[in-house]
Amino acid sequence: MTALLRTEGLTKHFPVRRGTLRRQAGTVQAVTDVSFQLDADETLAIVGESGCGKSTLGRALLRLHEPSGGKVWLKDMDITALNHQGLREARKHMQIIFQDPFGSLNPRMTVRETLSEPLLLHGLATSATVRAETDRLIDLCGLARWHAERYPHEFSGGQRQRVGIARALATRPMLIVCDEPVSALDVSVQAQIVNLLQDLQRELGMAYVFISHDLAVVRHIARKVAVMYLGRIVEEATTEALFTSPRHPYTRMLIDSAPRPDPTALRHKASAKGGTPSALAMPSGCAFHPRCVLADDRCRTIRPELRQVGQSRVACHFAETAISDNVVPTRADS
Ligand code: SF4
Ligand code: MG
Repeated sequence: MTALLRTEGLTKHFPVRRGTLRRQAGTVQAVTDVSFQLDADETLAIVGESGCGKSTLGRALLRLHEPSGGKVWLKDMDITALNHQGLREARKHMQIIFQDPFGSLNPRMTVRETLSEPLLLHGLATSATVRAETDRLIDLCGLARWHAERYPHEFSGGQRQRVGIARALATRPMLIVCDEPVSALDVSVQAQIVNLLQDLQRELGMAYVFISHDLAVVRHIARKVAVMYLGRIVEEATTEALFTSPRHPYTRMLIDSAPRPDPTALRHKASAKGGTPSALAMPSGCAFHPRCVLADDRCRTIRPELRQVGQSRVACHFAETAISDNVVPTRADS
């Protein structure tokens, strides 16, 4: 079976100028050599700290950022090879939901106008059917029919995100990239939106690439998780495997530092230190080595390839070593 979405070596580097006179040329290596695949009606979560490249990756999948290298296939359509017209057609099948729907909705358009636009643009409704079709989308996303004639500023954050979701659904996509869709919302509203996304997936069967820094949400919604660090996937596993036996020290750090519902739960010893280095000054060898308590000379010089380890893919020289919860050495121990 062909995967619904497949990337091979997907890369996005941004040239930048820096220094006082902006004379120094540099490159932000936002996304480097990302390969994964996703089946229909599956959810892959992309997690990592802010600045790790996950949003850039999400946009590169749709060519909202033009990739600097690599390939993206949607079924057997090579997205990276499409011309302007082909890409416009393909966008019907792949949509995106943003963290801040306010920024992505036109403030001068009512909900009905916002939803009508893609329907008419892609020939999915005529002037005779567009009203019924927008009503259908409004119902699907749990909005009231009378919301249709309202403007974005008249809604709460949660309602606006429902409008954003309805707009993404208008073209009946096979894939939706959800870029931190609940991060800006109150916790109670987050649950409603996550449940809505899950219900819609069950009903309509599209795949999600779900970008998030919130591991609790990811654990709830995704079957597979890819962890990104400084633009690269460092671990990919089923959600179950990732949370029960994380293999990459960075994954362990993320899980350790996530807030826990039970504050008395035993916490691992701190397994990393420091903050994220800049994607402008990429560390040598394993990019995680300045923060990794396991780093040795090999880590400082040789970049570990992402490779199959058990059921997971891991980019760590020590991935085979079963790193159990209680034996991670800390700097203080070693
Ligand atoms: Fe740490 Fe070395 Fe593994 Fe990188 S390769 S995560 S530095 S142990
Ligand atoms: Mg982001």
